[in-house]
Amino acid sequence: MLIVNADHLCLAGVASLEEPCTYCSRPLAAYPLIMSDDRSQTVYHVTCALELVTDLLVDLATFFPEIRHSSEVRGYLAPLGISWRSGDGKASSWH
Ligand SMILES: [Zn+2]
Repeated sequence: MLIVNADHLCLAGVASLEEPCTYCSRPLAAYPLIMSDDRSQTVYHVTCALELVTDLLVDLATFFPEIRHSSEVRGYLAPLGISWRSGDGKASSWH
C-alpha cells in the first residue's frame, strides 16, 4: 500500500514520521512510503522497498535461473508465505 498522508500512516499503525524505517533504521521522515502486505504490515521508504524487491528478484534469479514468468515466481514464493504482485495487476496472497 502506498502511504501518501497522515491518515494512511495512521492506518498503517505508525504514530509519526519520526519512527524508523525497518530496513534502513532512518526516520521515515517524508511521504510517499510503502507498507508491505505481510502480517507485520511493515512501513518502508519507497527506495528501501525497491531495494528489497531488487534483492529478492536477484536472489530468485540466482537460485532459480529458469524463472521466466510471474506465475513461476508466485509458485516459488507461495510456500514461503510471501505475496507476489505482478505487473499485470493480478495479486496473490498466501497469508
Ligand atoms: Zn528506509
